[in-house]
Amino acid sequence: MKDQTRVIHSIPSDPLTGAISVPIYQTSTYVQQAPGVHKGFDYSRTNNPTRQVLENLIAVLEGGSHGFAFASGLAAIDAVIKSTLKAGDEIVAIDDIYGGAFRLFSQVYTGFGINVRYVDTQNPDLLEAAVSPATKIIWIESPTNPTLKISDIRAISAIARRKGVLLCVDNTFATPVSQNPLALGADIVVHSATKYLGGHSDLIAGLVVVDSAALAEKVKFIQNASGGILAPFDSWLVIRGIETLGLRIKQHSENAMAVAGFLASHPKVNKVFYPGLSTHANHSVAVTQQRYSGGMVSFTLKPDTIAAANTVVTSARLFKLAESLGGVKSLSCHPATMTHKSIPAAMRIESGITDSLIRLSVGLEDQEDLIADLELALSQV
Ligand SMILES: *Cc1c(COP(=O)(O)O)cnc(C)c1O
Repeated sequence: MKDQTRVIHSIPSDPLTGAISVPIYQTSTYVQQAPGVHKGFDYSRTNNPTRQVLENLIAVLEGGSHGFAFASGLAAIDAVIKSTLKAGDEIVAIDDIYGGAFRLFSQVYTGFGINVRYVDTQNPDLLEAAVSPATKIIWIESPTNPTLKISDIRAISAIARRKGVLLCVDNTFATPVSQNPLALGADIVVHSATKYLGGHSDLIAGLVVVDSAALAEKVKFIQNASGGILAPFDSWLVIRGIETLGLRIKQHSENAMAVAGFLASHPKVNKVFYPGLSTHANHSVAVTQQRYSGGMVSFTLKPDTIAAANTVVTSARLFKLAESLGGVKSLSCHPATMTHKSIPAAMRIESGITDSLIRLSVGLEDQEDLIADLELALSQV
């Protein structure tokens, strides 16, 4: 079976009633015939049939053996760290990491004796040098938020193997339709299913996939012990979102490519960050590990000021100003004053998030309308 057929038919019809849509098992507990004698379900923190369909589905999509669903992307990340590290261990993470993961690593785990080092993983040599005997896990994202940096997952997984440490890839931006980190040598994949997997800006969810029974047992233990599980209804929403993921990613990518091309030739635009452009610093790596360039585009303006960016994001009509990404409606975000405002200006600019940087989540509207919207917004600068 080809990809889209495989995805759609990995979602089972209900064995009990034949319902073509996965039933929402809105239940906390399950009747037992005798103590410990039941149909595989005893309590919904431990296991729930609707959540189980989603967990099996994401495992199939990522080419792993086991999937796990959590109440948010951060709950999924938290479960991975709790499953694999203890006090005295160290994380080596990409410097351009998602802000919420940075806060969790730097402000929560350090209090439990887990050390974190941040490194520019676009350069595998820098990464290799940062791995110490205490390192237990390498944590990367590719592409990153908001500057769309690409790291070479194959090269990094080879380093992880050599050093005997785990590699976890946050695959939120690429999605399994575009990139499969396990096939590139990673040990663990995490997703904020809030973004493209859900796809409609109507839920918060997180997923973990592994391809080893030993790792699966650890994640399963923490999922049940810490209890940050995804509810049945939200599990159903993610399943429903995944049914059209293939179509959506294809169209998000086509629209984003058109938007990136338009921006690249606009006189008021300084730089465009999009892995699909041949001018992207790691375009050659992106094409070896991603099937699509994705729906996220970032760009800076001439002049490179907060005021200019403010004009663009408030003048656009179709690109709604909001945090988050990956939904059918196009969104814009101004990292310097929104998602990254807590980072000191000098540090923020050093990492490429200059004052005028605007991040677009290119939605599924018609390309011509999206470009006309940006044209109008840019004319106000
Ligand atoms: C949004 C996001 C997260 C966090 O997910 P939540 O569902 O908001 O908890 C983690 N990683 C990346 C790359 C994200 O974009």
